[in-house]
Amino acid sequence: MPKNAIAGKEQQYFQELIAWVKSQKPDKGAIAKKKYQLARTIGIKKVPKDILVYLHAIGDDVEAIRPYLQSKPTRTISGVAVVATMTRPSMCPHGSCTFCPGGLNSYFGNTPKSYTGKEPSTMRGIRNDFDPYRIIFNRLEHYIAIGQSPDKVEQIVMGGTFPGFPKKYQEQYAYYSFKAYNDFSQLFFHDGEFDIAAFKEFFELPADVGDKRREENVTRKILALKEQEVKSMEEEQIANEAAAIRCIGLTIETKPDWGFLSHGLELLRLGATRIELGIQNVYDESLAVTHRGHTLADTKKSIAELRDLGFKLNFHVMPGLPGVDGRRISHEMDVASLRTIFDSPDFRPDMLKVYPCMVMPGTELEKSYKAGVFTPLSTAEAAELIVELYRMVPEYCRIMRVQRDIPTYATVSGVDRTNLRQYVDELAREKGVISRDIRAREIMAGEILGEPALVVRDYEASGGREFFISMEADDTLLGFVRLRLPPRSLHPAITPSSALIRELHVYGQAVMIGKKEHGRAQHKGFGKRLMAKAESIGKAHGRDKMVVISGIGAREYFRRLGYGREGPYMVKAL
Ligand code: SF4
Repeated sequence: MPKNAIAGKEQQYFQELIAWVKSQKPDKGAIAKKKYQLARTIGIKKVPKDILVYLHAIGDDVEAIRPYLQSKPTRTISGVAVVATMTRPSMCPHGSCTFCPGGLNSYFGNTPKSYTGKEPSTMRGIRNDFDPYRIIFNRLEHYIAIGQSPDKVEQIVMGGTFPGFPKKYQEQYAYYSFKAYNDFSQLFFHDGEFDIAAFKEFFELPADVGDKRREENVTRKILALKEQEVKSMEEEQIANEAAAIRCIGLTIETKPDWGFLSHGLELLRLGATRIELGIQNVYDESLAVTHRGHTLADTKKSIAELRDLGFKLNFHVMPGLPGVDGRRISHEMDVASLRTIFDSPDFRPDMLKVYPCMVMPGTELEKSYKAGVFTPLSTAEAAELIVELYRMVPEYCRIMRVQRDIPTYATVSGVDRTNLRQYVDELAREKGVISRDIRAREIMAGEILGEPALVVRDYEASGGREFFISMEADDTLLGFVRLRLPPRSLHPAITPSSALIRELHVYGQAVMIGKKEHGRAQHKGFGKRLMAKAESIGKAHGRDKMVVISGIGAREYFRRLGYGREGPYMVKAL
């Protein structure tokens, strides 16, 4: 069905519903029934949320329907709204890895390194001039326009090697990110309540899809706001601690030789909590042949230093890379590399993104492919490997992705399905392989079955001891905390007798901060119980101080548990 036909139907739906609500003054039950009937009659598959009715109401209708419909956005399913922001087009400090597309003057033009310009996140970056302030406004508007509450945001900064950008750029990027959350909060939330009228007025809603004039007007308003009231990055961070939209986690992407202690300290200052680290595989010859610009020793050093600063670590691995002769390494070597990542205490990631190597236009690898030297993994070969990964992944790790979001039409050769995960899952089912990773066990829609209980798993990593403490019911994960007993002190706040909390995560649908809701995993006190368990384990091991790497927007939560701020961390005496 053409897009504007759908838009036409929705238009009719909203008009008829608004007219009916105004004339009937119905109760909640009648509205629910009418919404369903009308959607069926008009031919709309999904019954639109109440807030969308508001966004389509014009003039006096807004006030007329207010007593009858919910004007608040509702929760996001995962509990946290993810906002991906792109950095500006650039090259990496070492140049380019042989398989990596994009960058400056690339086959795809000027794009952020490793992106083609065709990914949804890059396209959003292009539309917003790679300005984090505009991208964030755009994403927050989108969340609300689909009826979801983005009050807790996890921001992921994508593109290239973030610490390799000039220091000033990095700081401005963080500054404008926090400013965007704060300004959006100030404009559209008053005393914790969402102001739908102000939102509609600012974004000039309702509007037709692709209304260029509206887009230009809104962009002008956003840019004017951006330059209003210049503060320091730290001031914006502090303002975000209590804002309606809080940034509870900030992720950046880097590579091992740009992920050492000095980089980690700077990233802490900017508010980062998670690092996506491109380690690719555990073979020095592959790293050299693909011009990674770092060695395996660098990888281990980076992992250890970032972990001892408290960062959550998400490794990017790339099966199917070339080996010493430029040909693809064997299936056995790829399996052994994945096994090493879990078996060796030098690695052991908290999360994992698996990106099977693909041949991309304009890369050095494409030349090797065309010369008949390199052959990438096929979809079937990549799937076999990922099923092997499912067999070995431990409970403390989450498999985040199994392929890039590059559309297959933009590639030369390699995995040729965009739904690889589905393909892998089917293959795993056929083979009777069940992953025990976090993603496979986490609670989805908030229904808790069975009696929740604490489970503690511990393991060695980078010379220290890790405790993965989870709240589980009927083998379903309701939340977890990552506790580390670091072997050394890399920051003045981390004394030799400190324990570190690298992550606290409680699942369930997001609820507006500070409000409780029956039957959901969040705000049921699980976070508090997990933290208490972590503190008692820390004490039992002779640690007298707990240091938490906390997202800026999560600091208030830790304050309520008796923590206070020390530099970038939240700390408490045990
Ligand atoms: S470090 Fe990452 S982004 Fe940079 S060139 Fe290599 S693969 Fe691309």
